[in-house]
Amino acid sequence: MFKELRILKSHGSQYVKNLRTQPVSERFRGRPVIAADINRDEIAVVSALCPLSAINSEKGSIDLGRCSFCNECALALPGKIRFTNDYRIAVNRREALVINPGDDVPVRISENHIRPEIRKMFSGSLKLRQVSAGGDNSCEMELNAAGNVNFDMGRYGIEFVASPRHADGIVITGPVTENMAEALQICYDAVPDPKIIILAGTDAISGGIFKDSPALNRKFIEEHHIDLYVPGNPMHPLTFINGLMDLLGIK
Ligand code: SF4
Repeated sequence: MFKELRILKSHGSQYVKNLRTQPVSERFRGRPVIAADINRDEIAVVSALCPLSAINSEKGSIDLGRCSFCNECALALPGKIRFTNDYRIAVNRREALVINPGDDVPVRISENHIRPEIRKMFSGSLKLRQVSAGGDNSCEMELNAAGNVNFDMGRYGIEFVASPRHADGIVITGPVTENMAEALQICYDAVPDPKIIILAGTDAISGGIFKDSPALNRKFIEEHHIDLYVPGNPMHPLTFINGLMDLLGIK
């Protein structure tokens, strides 16, 4: 008994107490800030080097739904582009993922665009089925971590379940390959109404580095309403959990 208590004491508190304010490594790359005075020549340089065409060649904005957070643009223009370690970047409107020059405010979900049934039905319990639609296992690992003893999203009743019939929605990772298109649709159809769709990671949101590949079939994404976009390559568990907390109205 005393031995177990000693072990417990030596382990200390393992869970993240406040998922809203938990500090992360300074090296983590989250919400970017682009200087308001970035000029056309500088925009041309970074938009040409971006491997994912995430930088608009006219405006100099960065699309977080395409960005792989590789940091190449910030290295090329250290005085003009930097990545903060703000991990609260999940949103419910695709256009809100675009960061313009001069923007240095938190990225937040739009309350007006949350379907009313989501908070009514799922704010106390949300069961999710994960579909890896051509994923590379990076986002999938981070989703696993979201439920571990540290991040413990289960404290809010948010869990992954084995069957879509027991789920309230699906979390899609990967760029959605042709081979997974039908399986994704079947899984979605098996989830009872009302149901939600979450895109986790750059590949799911835009196709990522594979976006022009003929091996993709993104019809499902184009034809369905998306309730939450969680950017990152892969996304951080805190980005995923905070996005869900915002969506469900958890303070
Ligand atoms: S960090 Fe994003 S925007 Fe910058 S070069 Fe990499 S992919 Fe492009």
